[in-house]
Amino acid sequence: MTGEKKHPEVHVDAASPWVVDVARELLRRPGQMKTLQRDVPAPEGFGLEMIGVPVGEPIHLDLRLESVMEGVLASGTVETEVRGECSRCLEPFTEHVDVDLTELYAYPDSVTDETSEEDEVSRIVDERIDLEPAVRDAVLLELPVTPLCREDCPGPESPDPEAWAFVPAGEARETIDPRWAALQEKYGGAGSHEN
Ligand SMILES: [Zn+2]
Repeated sequence: MTGEKKHPEVHVDAASPWVVDVARELLRRPGQMKTLQRDVPAPEGFGLEMIGVPVGEPIHLDLRLESVMEGVLASGTVETEVRGECSRCLEPFTEHVDVDLTELYAYPDSVTDETSEEDEVSRIVDERIDLEPAVRDAVLLELPVTPLCREDCPGPESPDPEAWAFVPAGEARETIDPRWAALQEKYGGAGSHEN
């Protein structure tokens, strides 16, 4: 049984900076290799709740694309800057991340493709590979769920109300930020006075 397996329509946006056309140099040419160095601006979705790559931040790809029997193997490193909020002191911080990536893009009719579930492997679509999902997964895996500005962050040093402005909505915002109070007074709520 060949070519019987149906995949939902998958489209690859040829204009995306994450997409690499492998038709000419790599397709069905095991042993061929090309390097790819590229800076791609981060799209949405490259982050967790308290830490992530800001939209537009360059993500530097330094990859090797190898033609193998089953498809195209992408491997190398991904580097970028992430911005986070310390889960202890609540101060914003930035950090450099450097992650290794290894991803096989299988040919649509390869054994790997035939024997894998839809979301288990990446695939070559229209003779192109889309690096975004694999890079995003690799970056997200590297991010801590409870980020710290530094390993030994002691937590808030003073009960500075400014620091509490970074507490996510819904979490212990007992200290009302003076700016909020001012806004409340100015724009809203019963008891506000008009000038
Ligand atoms: Zn901290």
